[in-house]
Amino acid sequence: MQRTLLIDKNYMVLSIITWKKAVKLLAKGKVEPIKTKKRIVINKGPNAFSFSSILRLVIEIPWRAHQSRMKFSRRNLMIRDQHLCQYCGTKLGKSATIDHVVPKSRGGITSYLNCVASCKPCNSNKRDLTPEQAGMTLKYKPKKPSFLSLYRSYLNEHSPKEWKDYIIGL
Ligand SMILES: [Zn+2]
Repeated sequence: MQRTLLIDKNYMVLSIITWKKAVKLLAKGKVEPIKTKKRIVINKGPNAFSFSSILRLVIEIPWRAHQSRMKFSRRNLMIRDQHLCQYCGTKLGKSATIDHVVPKSRGGITSYLNCVASCKPCNSNKRDLTPEQAGMTLKYKPKKPSFLSLYRSYLNEHSPKEWKDYIIGL
């Protein structure tokens, strides 16, 4: 799979994108290539062309926009919470549940700020109560994850060498 690392104007990792998306961004002039040894090669013969495996956005995007890129999903929530019950610390398997910190019945919404990974027993103990009411304590205050926080370990294992210089904080 030919993947391109997308970094922002300030050299912060934004995402890993497919070559198709990369070509679109290049065509629109929204990114500039960073010089790399290994290049992404598209097509063969006379239609072949290649570009850098790291692209830098030339337009500034505010930090808020970075954050909103991380869509809420069960998978991302579990990665954020390291597959641990956020109440008792139990390692969670397939039976992991999503707990709404402020229960839905009390107006709590499904978002990174109001949801945590939870084991079944903790989730049913808590019932329709807030953690305080149920006498339970959250290990961490839920936060919206960044791309880098979710994919740090993936990037650590799968990044080509030339990406490493651009992935700060690994
Ligand atoms: Zn638990």
